[in-house]
Amino acid sequence: MSSISQNLQAVHEAIAQSAQCYDRNPTDIVLLAVSKTFPAEDVVTAWQAGQIRFGENYVQEGVDKIARVAELLGLPVVDGNAIGKPAPEWHFIGPIQSNKTRPIAEHFSWVHSVDRDKIASRLSEQRPAHLPPLNVCIQVNISGEVSKSGIAPDQCAALARQIQSLPGLLLRGLMAVPEATEDESAQRRSFAALRELSQQLTQEGIQLDTLSMGMSGDLAAAVAEGSTMVRIGSAIFGKRNYAV
Ligand SMILES: *Cc1c(COP(=O)(O)O)cnc(C)c1O
Repeated sequence: MSSISQNLQAVHEAIAQSAQCYDRNPTDIVLLAVSKTFPAEDVVTAWQAGQIRFGENYVQEGVDKIARVAELLGLPVVDGNAIGKPAPEWHFIGPIQSNKTRPIAEHFSWVHSVDRDKIASRLSEQRPAHLPPLNVCIQVNISGEVSKSGIAPDQCAALARQIQSLPGLLLRGLMAVPEATEDESAQRRSFAALRELSQQLTQEGIQLDTLSMGMSGDLAAAVAEGSTMVRIGSAIFGKRNYAV
């Protein structure tokens, strides 16, 4: 067994354990494997071990990898299905520059990092008509640092309504990358803030089914606070070669 498939199994076990601990159904927590900086061959190894969803942070790297994985698997680049097995599903999770929206709209199924209306409008306009709407999470700056991406919590409802009005997008939920800390109660406070914001939007009539939160270092805290999608990179693929 490859170390990637062993790591995947360990991550699934960690999710199941946290789910049990916090009285949640493990099938309500989806695993997104963050493959940034790792080669297409590693994605194929993970896919062969049953992993379907992959996350990328950099547009060019992601687009190249999507094409290479499709080539390795002998799949059409978009929306392909291998015999009896779903094709990889690609999620864009990195910061978005407005001049880079087109390749994202054309090649990904999900975007987790929409944080302003200009980006939302461009993604909607540029989403090819033959594809289903792009699934979108709004990235929220939950810990309030100036340097971080993400919209301020008090501006989130307005952006959510705008996204709901755009034909090329389907609003799914909220995403956050809280400040890194090893203190589990601090991790939980950030994730709880995102969950509460999501509950508040739901009360205002905005339908959401996704809370994209939790990485390799704070998975348990995220599951405790209601994450429905954890974005795990290094615990699956190993240590990255350069800081990101
Ligand atoms: C890199 C990254 C991850 C995965 O981080 P790990 O600590 O390697 O699990 C998750 N989400 C985002 C937005 C990232 O940039």
